[in-house]
Amino acid sequence: MTLTLDAGQLAARFGSVFGSAPDGVWQAPGRVNLMGEHTDYNEGFVLPFAIDRTARVAVRLRPDSAVRLLSTFGNQGLTTADAGSLVGGTAKGWTKYPLGVLWALQQRGLPVRGLDLLLDSDVPRGAGLSSSHAIECAVISALNELTGAGLDTQEMVLATQRAENDFVGAPTGIMDQSASLRGAAGHALFLDCRDQSVRLVPFDAESAGLVMLVIDTKVSHSHAAGGYAARRASCELGAAALGVRALRDVGPGDLEGAGGRLDPVTFRRVRHVVTENERVRQTVALLDSTGPGAIGPLLDASHASMRDDFEISCPELDLAVVAARSAGAVGARMTGGGFGGSAIALIPATAEQPVRAAVERGFAAAGYPAPAIFRVRPAAGAVRLA
Ligand code: ADP
Ligand code: MG
Repeated sequence: MTLTLDAGQLAARFGSVFGSAPDGVWQAPGRVNLMGEHTDYNEGFVLPFAIDRTARVAVRLRPDSAVRLLSTFGNQGLTTADAGSLVGGTAKGWTKYPLGVLWALQQRGLPVRGLDLLLDSDVPRGAGLSSSHAIECAVISALNELTGAGLDTQEMVLATQRAENDFVGAPTGIMDQSASLRGAAGHALFLDCRDQSVRLVPFDAESAGLVMLVIDTKVSHSHAAGGYAARRASCELGAAALGVRALRDVGPGDLEGAGGRLDPVTFRRVRHVVTENERVRQTVALLDSTGPGAIGPLLDASHASMRDDFEISCPELDLAVVAARSAGAVGARMTGGGFGGSAIALIPATAEQPVRAAVERGFAAAGYPAPAIFRVRPAAGAVRLA
């Protein structure tokens, strides 16, 4: 478990680095997507939840335009920039996230302001838990309040998307920051990526005697970026061939007729998106009516669809899912964009040790590097701590 600083410790560290106390301390969580993979850009549904792993920032506005940034993690050291001359694509390392947020706020009319910022985070980096959005959401929460920018939550969601798309240079949607800013303890966030409407859905695994494990395979396949672009292209091709604006507009009942109008590969890509949207709806319905213990088969079906139809899994993810299931998980699936990253397994609390052992044994037997396995719980969204 990563050691982290609480708000008081972070403020004290800020004081010793920057010479006086911060104006405040804000925190924002990473996220796990419970259901709905590659549905966002098809104007469909996703169901992420904020997790109990957070980025925390101590921030103080400056009277000049200097920006000074430091993380408790890594060896990048103190980074300085000028708030009056921020240019997308030039920032190095993690500092592109806070600088991107500052830039996006300026694009919305915020006067140029300098700041000092100290970051601490226990969101695992590069595990598909959106450590980058945790940073952005903590920073935008701080700056929105300190500068009096007055953005509402949806405007903050869109400003962080602008930071990611146009400053960091990552073509991401709104799922991650929506979960980080809007999450609530014991809930998942049902998000309609077409009209951007949201609803919190009860997802209190622990009260149901269950535990959610993340299994980080630590695999990052080199074809991930190309694979993502190819899947998007397939979805656009499928939508065009079926004469719809987006695959969101294709229902499960349309699939039979679609078979004859699509080549076999495009058909399978389409079938994943259509059935995955349906699984998000079914998961929400089951969480509303029955509880977390009922969604296992949907998690399993989602994994099978990503493995067989969308073809974005990999042997390490498949092994994690099979091992977790064989040791008692009620359901398991890869989560995130695929080609590596993490799987999630929903397990009875009593099966935690057997599942961990089975996954670790399986990886060792296959000659894969040991995965990182940790519990996550649906937790609160961004909040001011001090
Ligand atoms: P993910 O968001 O899935 O974790 P990304 O590649 O989008 O993966 O973001 C990971 C990046 O976020 C890291 O490469 C690093 O630049 C940055 N990062 C996250 N947390 C920290 C931290 N505590 N200190 C410094 N950099 C961090
Ligand atoms: Mg990220």
